[in-house]
Amino acid sequence: MREDKEWNDIAGLNRLILKASWWMVLVIILLSVTGILITYQFNGKGLIQMAVSYVILPTIYTVVILTLTQVLYSMFRHWGDYILLIGVFAILHVYILNFPFAQGIHYLLIISVLISALYFQKEKVYFTGILSLISIFSLYFFYEPFADEIARRDIYAFIGIFIGFVFISVGIIYRGHYLLKHLEESIRNQEELMVRNIMMDKASKMDGLTDLYNHKTFHEYLDRLIEQSDKSQLSFQLAIIDIDNFKKVNDQFGHWVGDIVLARVGEQLKLNVTPDDFVSRYGGEEFAVILTEKGKKDSFQLVDEIRANISEMVHPEMDNKPVTVSVGMCSYEAGLDKENFFKAADDSLYQAKRNGKNQTVMARI
Ligand code: GH3
Ligand code: MG
Ligand code: MG
Repeated sequence: MREDKEWNDIAGLNRLILKASWWMVLVIILLSVTGILITYQFNGKGLIQMAVSYVILPTIYTVVILTLTQVLYSMFRHWGDYILLIGVFAILHVYILNFPFAQGIHYLLIISVLISALYFQKEKVYFTGILSLISIFSLYFFYEPFADEIARRDIYAFIGIFIGFVFISVGIIYRGHYLLKHLEESIRNQEELMVRNIMMDKASKMDGLTDLYNHKTFHEYLDRLIEQSDKSQLSFQLAIIDIDNFKKVNDQFGHWVGDIVLARVGEQLKLNVTPDDFVSRYGGEEFAVILTEKGKKDSFQLVDEIRANISEMVHPEMDNKPVTVSVGMCSYEAGLDKENFFKAADDSLYQAKRNGKNQTVMARI
């Protein structure tokens, strides 16, 4: 993962290029040492002399250039990419100038084009491409050891291959940008789809008017809770809350006022329960609340307080008349079946209605 990140951001890439350059120096030292060990016996020169001109001097030049590059890089971060590319370009020249007799040594310049392509910016490829072409012409016309070793047709071949490399690199960059654009688009589409799915999922679980869980979610939750409760012998409480004389509210003030009152009562329920509890709109003007992590007595007290709070709420749309609710409750004990449990709470609700409304009744089972 860390390496992925390095390839994605330019500063990481630059660090990687610098690191790789130091490794490149080490590899070149090893190669040149091996080279002189193999060739010195066929060569007129002595080992020390060869080591100085083919290993020690190029190594010193390279280390100086690389150190300078690193210093300039940290001083001028804004131009950092170009400083690095020029640094690599200069190091390649140390070897081209030192080994003009090594066939095809000038093809080393292709390395600078390929490194510039890693930035995925065509300007950088053109930059190293033009720099390399200027260099090859200068070497050919002004550096005798190189001009002596290389035939004119080699130069043409080099230029052809080189320009080919530059354009292929630019082509890869275009292709990369194209793929990246499509990738981004498809990620965006996927994200939109995910958001839409989440919204649809939410819409299927929630009630639109009160933003509470709906009837279906209530039953799903209750089924799961009963299953869990049977396993762990934990009890929980159900409260069915019904607004009293709600038909009158609609008849007297209109359905839109009825809707406002419904949403307000729902909000009040949500605000007053604890985070362990589950509040749903069971249907019409009825709510179902499931209370967990509390004893039967505490749950009763909490629900009855909520009932009292609701009766004290102000409704400007109803000329400040109050709205009350009746509540039927039942506590679940392991082994009870769902229908009987629900019916017990429902019966308690009717008991509360019969007793005069605006009260809470707990089923005795
Ligand atoms: P009780 O005290 O016995 O519960 O009497 P009630 O009038 O509240 O009960 P009833 O079942 O007779 O009437 C319920 C009313 O709730 C009838 C229906 O029009 C209204 N209602 C149900 N859902 C909605 C809703 O979403 N919006 C509005 N405005 N009214 C609703
Ligand atoms: Mg009702
Ligand atoms: Mg009612």
